[in-house]
Order: sequence, then structure tokens, then C-alpha cells
Amino acid sequence: MKPNVCVYPGSFDPVTLGHLDIIKRACAIFAEVRVAVLNNPDKTKAFSVEERIAMLEKACQNLPNVRIDSFSGLLVSYMRKTGAGIVIRGLRSAGDFETEFQMAQMNSRLNESVESLFMMTSPGYAYISSSIIKQIASFGGDISAFVPDCILPEIIERFQNR
Ligand code: ADP
Repeated sequence: MKPNVCVYPGSFDPVTLGHLDIIKRACAIFAEVRVAVLNNPDKTKAFSVEERIAMLEKACQNLPNVRIDSFSGLLVSYMRKTGAGIVIRGLRSAGDFETEFQMAQMNSRLNESVESLFMMTSPGYAYISSSIIKQIASFGGDISAFVPDCILPEIIERFQNR
């Protein structure tokens, strides 16, 4: 296990300032933060895995210890394959806690060397989620306070053309 590496898995459809806050805080603790985009077949996603990776790369371009990757299938298999042992997830609410608690326990049952660590959302980000941002964008609302500036144009464009 590599104790100085953490994996931050998720959909990131698209990456938000809430995600970026977790990434930056993890960077202050770990030598390497590997952001892993889940690539499971799912037609409900607004952006392809390649697009989500490209947006994360732009958003994290000033963070030298971040690596963007993708995986398909089980997170525990990805962890085993890469030799990473620590999973970082963010918590916004009691609802997040319920699902994350179950997932962390199942992941540890499937691969006991995987340790899940949780970071509370920072004040000001608790209400931000990729899905609510997509909803606002689809109705032409202003999402500029919720996503990194460098990816704002492509999100707006995606929803304008729908
Ligand atoms: P998933 O589909 O795996 O939940 P997401 O991209 O929605 O993927 O989220 C990835 C992780 O980031 C999850 O742990 C989620 O709780 C966390 N997260 C999402 N939005 C925020 C936020 N605003 N503040 C803190 N953590 C967040």
C-alpha cells in the first residue's frame, strides 16, 4: 500500500467548486491525489469520460500533485491494481453519510486493505452538486459561482445546444 497516495473517485459530471475544494485540501495532506473518474456505461451522463477528464485536467492545472485517471468496474479492483490504499470522499449531508457509510463498509469487506477517509464540505459548498448545476444550466441559469471559471464556457455550451 502507498500511504502517501489517495484516490478521489467519482462521476465529476462535471467537476464543481465543491469537488475542487476537496481535491485542494487532500493535496495538503497527501503527496499524490489521484482523481479517478468512474467510466461505467451510463447514458444519463451529460459529459463523456474523456470530456470529464479534460475538464478536471483544466481545473487542476495549478495543482502539481494531482493526477487524473479513470477506471471502470469496481473501485476496489482499481485500488488493488494501482497499489493505492486510501479513498477520499466528501460529505455534504446526512444523506451523503448514509450512502457513503454503506459503500465504505462494502469496499472494506471486498478489499480489507482499502481505507476510506471522509472530508466535510467547506462552508459555502454544501449545497453544490453536479446534478443541481446541470439542472440550473439546462434552464439557462447562472452557474458561474459553482464551477471553475476555466470550464464554465463548455458547460454553458453543452446545455445551450440541448
Ligand atoms: P458520485 O457519483 O460517486 O457520488 P460525484 O462526482 O457526485 O460522484 O461526487 C464525488 C465525491 O465528491 C463524493 O464523495 C461526493 O460526496 C463528493 N462531493 C460532491 N460534491 C461535493 C461538495 N459540494 N462538497 C464536498 N464534497 C462533494
